[in-house]
Amino acid sequence: MTPVDLHCHSNHSDGLLPARDVVRKAFDRGCQLFALTDHDETRGLAEAEDEARQLGMKFINGVEISVSWGKHILHIVGLGFDRHNEALLAGLASVRSGRGERAERMAAELDKVGIHGTLEGARQYADNPEILSRAHFARHLVKTGVCKDMGSVFKRYLVRGKPGFVEHEWARLHEAIEWITGAGGVAVLAHPARYEMGNETLRVLLTEYKRLGGEAIEVVSGCHGIPDAARFGRLAQEFGFLASCGTDYHATGEGAREPGLNPDLPMDCQPVWHRWLPPETMPSSISAG
Ligand code: AMP
Ligand code: MN
Ligand code: MN
Ligand code: MN
Repeated sequence: MTPVDLHCHSNHSDGLLPARDVVRKAFDRGCQLFALTDHDETRGLAEAEDEARQLGMKFINGVEISVSWGKHILHIVGLGFDRHNEALLAGLASVRSGRGERAERMAAELDKVGIHGTLEGARQYADNPEILSRAHFARHLVKTGVCKDMGSVFKRYLVRGKPGFVEHEWARLHEAIEWITGAGGVAVLAHPARYEMGNETLRVLLTEYKRLGGEAIEVVSGCHGIPDAARFGRLAQEFGFLASCGTDYHATGEGAREPGLNPDLPMDCQPVWHRWLPPETMPSSISAG
């Protein structure tokens, strides 16, 4: 296992726990380098950094930016940026500002199929009123017995073609990458196995992402199986991307993994975290990533 987690959520976006608690959970499992990556939001970073400093764990700034790429929704994680950078903050504020109106349209669509009161319901789960996410709708629909778990809610109601899904314009890919790199950070394509696209489209994406300044992709992710990690490890090498790892932790019981540790990268991948955690500072068994 690798004691690095570069993708986690707190209740500043659609995670359930305060940022401090997520940091402590990661540290308790042996994590040495941690990034909090809330959706389109940086307001939890100061709190997370403070907790990490008290615990003696390395911390870097993170964010997960929602992007529209043609008909696809992509997530671009930014790591190690200056969290006071004005262009980045303005960009993230613009992405957040669309979420309220989108949530109203989602609730209106769910009304049409006889599921009422979901906007108010979802709001009760959102500790940050600027980040109303499909995950908050899903928690409400599980709580009210409409579906048995989050996965079923998404399958039946919240993905494209289902009654509660609405189209929305997120950031453009070049904008997200520019905001991150302009603030001195590294762009990481999050959980690439999750995007429903054929191999050819994926290669077009990786080529464009690289041309626009994308430096890294997630190879090991809480959303990836072992075959996904092997596949994206090979693609990282072929395209010359650094490799990242993150649990994508949101809440205990909701996803596959607890925060803090990740399976090792496939052989020959170049870890993106070596710039913050140089290999000579790590035990030899994990220095290769
Ligand atoms: P949004 O940013 O509002 O579109 O919401 C996306 C979030 O919904 C993701 O970051 C996940 O937290 C959650 N999500 C997406 N798909 C699923 C799924 N199939 N099961 C559970 N949660 C999901
Ligand atoms: Mn999420
Ligand atoms: Mn994501
Ligand atoms: Mn995530």
